[in-house]
Amino acid sequence: MTEFRIHQCQCPECKQPGEQASKVLHHQMNLYLSRLDEQQRRWYVALEAKKLGHGATKRLSEITGMHINTIRRGKRELEQDLAEHPIGRIRALGGGRRTVEKNT
Ligand SMILES: [Zn+2]
Repeated sequence: MTEFRIHQCQCPECKQPGEQASKVLHHQMNLYLSRLDEQQRRWYVALEAKKLGHGATKRLSEITGMHINTIRRGKRELEQDLAEHPIGRIRALGGGRRTVEKNT
């Protein structure tokens, strides 16, 4: 499956009928999440959970459909300055091997 499925928010507010502002916001959060890779999703949701404070991890789990433990993991990773996810890890080792052509 290459098609992105945008998660439908399951929070109590969005389940109520009517036009709540949070419905639009939660939809847009899930829309944004659908464009991120797995790590980015985790960190974004973790950041939102941190902003909202107490009880937010559970709420963010309802909004995004992300597992509560995944959000907790994201929060831990942020607290550790993403130490295990450095920028440019792919080219961290060696300086690249030069192809040497021998003239024989
Ligand atoms: Zn919602």
